[in-house]
Amino acid sequence: MNDPGQPTAGLASRRLDGKQTMSLEPERISLLQSLKRRGISERVLSAMNTVKREDYVPDKWHDYAYHDEPLPIGNGQTISAPHMVAIMCDLLSVEPSSNVLEVGTGSGYHAAVLAELTGDGIVYTIERFERLAQEARRRVPSNVIVTTGDGSLGFAEKAPFDRILVTCSAPDIPPPLLAQLKGGGRMVLPLGRGLQELYLVCKNHEITKEAHGAVAFVLLVGKYGFSEARGGGRANRFRF
Ligand code: SAM
Repeated sequence: MNDPGQPTAGLASRRLDGKQTMSLEPERISLLQSLKRRGISERVLSAMNTVKREDYVPDKWHDYAYHDEPLPIGNGQTISAPHMVAIMCDLLSVEPSSNVLEVGTGSGYHAAVLAELTGDGIVYTIERFERLAQEARRRVPSNVIVTTGDGSLGFAEKAPFDRILVTCSAPDIPPPLLAQLKGGGRMVLPLGRGLQELYLVCKNHEITKEAHGAVAFVLLVGKYGFSEARGGGRANRFRF
């Protein structure tokens, strides 16, 4: 990450919608420093320094944008905590020009960070709620394509993908996602309902699945996910 220098406390900044708010630069720098101490790579820190999380959270949560916790975004869903975004991006190891699929657009923040990492590549992201997809579309950079649908089916028209990120927890790896991952590709996803674990899946001559710790995500609701009827898919304040 480039050292952004001394923070300018209290500086007014202009948001995407043109409204003036107080700058959160000191909070952003302090959060990035704590992520750096946790071992997050310079590349990911730099991308997270560029994408302003306050542009992706609802107005009422603006001042909390750099608290390292998930925040509500409507429809019972959340924008993931920054440390979780950082850990997932590092595991995914997005290279420049990668073709990336994200399942679970939410606010669009994670997709925007992926877009920074892929540079001139494209990030396709799928959200099941039309309202969240519409709002995300207004915020994301031009190399992010937001669609609405059941992301557990993947996005066959744009496959294969170098990288796939799933930001909601599935019962098992959705077969269409594995089929749409390129040879040599990587997928990061949480698996499980109550007790969840974050996995890195690598597709080489064989499929490897590596566990990376306990997590708590909202559930993937869809054909290869959980059923909404059983209360799946709603966040509480502890879900990423
Ligand atoms: N990446 C998001 C961000 O940066 O704000 C956070 C995503 S939130 C933790 C998980 C999202 O997955 C929710 O918005 C939820 O509606 C969505 N989701 C759940 N099941 C889905 C499915 N089958 N297809 C697409 N999106 C789904």
